[in-house]
Amino acid sequence: MFAPTPIPFVTAANYTRTQAWVRALQHAMPDELVVPFANLSANDRAHCKLAIVANPDPVDLAGMPHLEWVHSVWAGVERLMAGLAYRDLKIVRLVDPQLAHTMAEMVLTYGLYLHRNGPLYARQQAQQRWQSHEYVRAERRTVTLLGLGALGQAAAKRLVAAGFRVAGWSRNKRLVDSVACYAGEHDLPGLLAQTDILVCLLPLTEETRGLLNAERLACLPRGASLINFARGPIVDEAALLDALGSGHLNHAVLDVFDHEPLPAGHRLWAHPSVTVLPHCAAPTDMETASQIVAQNVATWRSSGVIPPAVNPDRGY
Ligand code: NAP
Repeated sequence: MFAPTPIPFVTAANYTRTQAWVRALQHAMPDELVVPFANLSANDRAHCKLAIVANPDPVDLAGMPHLEWVHSVWAGVERLMAGLAYRDLKIVRLVDPQLAHTMAEMVLTYGLYLHRNGPLYARQQAQQRWQSHEYVRAERRTVTLLGLGALGQAAAKRLVAAGFRVAGWSRNKRLVDSVACYAGEHDLPGLLAQTDILVCLLPLTEETRGLLNAERLACLPRGASLINFARGPIVDEAALLDALGSGHLNHAVLDVFDHEPLPAGHRLWAHPSVTVLPHCAAPTDMETASQIVAQNVATWRSSGVIPPAVNPDRGY
């Protein structure tokens, strides 16, 4: 019987979940042989056309000269793209409805937390202060999603269902039910000016790095809040600290940072107007992700067609 070349699972050397991933992937594709990269023979390394990856060491990928594509089990692939820029290799990222659901749940959780004055009540508790504040209906708040892709659109649906006014921004104009859609840099200042809660769900690219700088944060109305669940460098950290320090921004919920883990003693840890989360907004679900990868691999085996890959010119 024909035995296809094993598919290596390639990760950073210190990654602790390699065996669990290999088991989950193997379970999802019983007709394939999935192996940790370290177990791949020299002959198989020489012939391998596909690798499944999670933050791989680029040196390991360089050791497989006939790779045609890599399938990431993460949704954000900017580091992988940078590491493989020199190679003509297709990068397929994870697009998983479960991941979108997980992210949408987190956006709704922290959107509601900001909407219902969670940070203010937390500060009052620390001061043992008993004071309630006027209720504002959700329909009076505009939540703006930067990024209307797989995750942004799922988040938009949950926010609309929760009664918020929802706006969204993308590169090309999208049509999303009950969402006021905007596109391109030209639309951004006006959109920011109407926003109460700004949610960043953009990929990190040359265009989005530093997008939320002092000038753009200043476009937000006084008292607005920010949620960054995308990538740290999209927000200019110094500008954000200034905007929070001056009271222009009310609060920031940050799940992603320039350097992760956020270094001990970093100003953001103890900032009274910042909620720090440890990059936990939308972890990949091993089981559903393995099924998605398995479907993509099966399509490729049967048709030779590589699933839609990220566009290196666009950067996402
Ligand atoms: P996606 O489907 O590729 O969507 C990206 C969206 O951003 C699209 O709407 C795209 O516009 C828009 N966009 C890209 N560049 C833009 C620009 N220069 N100006 C305006 N809009 C721009 O990505 P996704 O699956 O939703 O994921 C988004 C990001 O979430 C990932 O890249 C990753 O960094 C992050 N993430 C974070 C976590 C976490 O736990 N914190 C988990 C998973 C993912 P078009 O619609 O016009 O293409």
